[in-house]
Amino acid sequence: MQYEAVIGLELHIQLATESKLFSPAPTRFGAAPNSQTNEIDLGYPGVLPVLNERAVEYAVLFGRALGAHINRRAFFMRKNYFYPDLPKGYQISQLDDSIIQGGTVTLQVDGIERTVRINRGQLEEDAGKSVHDHFPGATGIDLNRAGVPLIELVSEPDIRSAAEAVEYMKTMHHLVRYLGISDGNMQEGSFRCDANVSIRPKGSQELNARVELKNINSFRFVEQAINLEIERQRELVESGRPVEQETRLFDADALETRTMRSKENANDYRYFPDPDLLPLQLEEDWLARVLVPELPPARKQRYQRDYQLDDDSAAYLLQTRALADYFDAVVSAGAEGKLAANWIQGELARLANAANQSLESTPVAAATLAELLRSLQANTLSAAGAKKVLQRLWDEPTASVAGLIEALGLRQVNDDGQIQSWVADIIAAYPEQVAAYRSGQVKMLGFLTGQVIKLSKGQANPKTVNDLLKAQLDG
Ligand code: ADP
Ligand code: MG
Repeated sequence: MQYEAVIGLELHIQLATESKLFSPAPTRFGAAPNSQTNEIDLGYPGVLPVLNERAVEYAVLFGRALGAHINRRAFFMRKNYFYPDLPKGYQISQLDDSIIQGGTVTLQVDGIERTVRINRGQLEEDAGKSVHDHFPGATGIDLNRAGVPLIELVSEPDIRSAAEAVEYMKTMHHLVRYLGISDGNMQEGSFRCDANVSIRPKGSQELNARVELKNINSFRFVEQAINLEIERQRELVESGRPVEQETRLFDADALETRTMRSKENANDYRYFPDPDLLPLQLEEDWLARVLVPELPPARKQRYQRDYQLDDDSAAYLLQTRALADYFDAVVSAGAEGKLAANWIQGELARLANAANQSLESTPVAAATLAELLRSLQANTLSAAGAKKVLQRLWDEPTASVAGLIEALGLRQVNDDGQIQSWVADIIAAYPEQVAAYRSGQVKMLGFLTGQVIKLSKGQANPKTVNDLLKAQLDG
């Protein structure tokens, strides 16, 4: 029997707001434990939560980027449960009327396009953290994370393999960073994933009991955990045992998943609308101010269409929005698209790498790089010369391109008359080599070209030298 996997992912994405979802406490990661909490996060009696407008804006932006419907009116619900890192005894979350409804994302998996539908995206607050490895025999509670805004993005069970799950996660990770709504830092827990997995006979449409996998917070772990779980379920089914609906914890060291708890139901949480918060009501004029930038798929198509960039090159420039913006600025300042892409990916990336810096933090302004590339386009600078100038610009970003070309003696001479006279001088100076070339030693052309370029102090356009020299010698 052939089985296929049915997978739905729940992503928890921390929003990059300065303050928490319902309190003014800061959200910065890595501060001393419990130094970023406030009476509201701690659930003191008598306090009132106040909604962070920026978090709503980010949720709307994200929803629109996914082509989702934005719910104009949504309740915040209390999800009640006890846990030491949840002092209020409930998490404020959303349910069926979540702010993000529907939407899709398109993935490329092994060259095949796949569309995954989104069920919903809810705006909610994060819980605190239990710290198990700090005090021997005891657990510490750090509430800095309590109240940090999250979007829980729930996919439909449209994913069919571990590889597709990873691609889905990577695409979302790229999108939230591109939109600037999350730093996506997976080590710090800003981008977390739970995976729901079931299997069924290939071709069947049924949805079988699913297992929810927790604690899989890297792309590699998602792939490993899902594959392990598919295999575990296949073995159960093939030996005639049922798959229990449950929550399992992935152990990356043991490379196994273990039962954590049997799956709870929504009723167990005794959800009800938070009486301290008004329903969220979004007005059209406020919504109209949330502008969606050109999104990665459209931008990639534009790069391929307008500049004939290949897939890899377009994807390279789209690694971050800042880098794509830089590329666009270089092109707007007069550089040819393909040339700009090649230089950014090649020489500029090499310099950034050598300086241990990110490419988008390059000190070379877009207008400066464009000026350099324009000299290259106009043939007044050779590629080798441009590399030297760029190297200098990296260290001295305010220097003028024209000034450096002059100072380094790199101005390329294209004038036929001038080059012709250098060619004549060299032909006169090397009669033996000229005779050798004419008697069939073709490689002498390289030597003579070299001599002309040397005579020009490296300024003669090598192609022109070659053409004129050949015309003289062959003619
Ligand atoms: P719950 O409220 O119980 O968590 P949700 O509707 O939020 O249920 O679904 C949780 C996730 O489980 C979703 O991503 C969904 O796509 C996925 N899912 C639902 N049914 C199945 C199934 N049979 N197999 C795999 N994943 C599933
Ligand atoms: Mg759920």
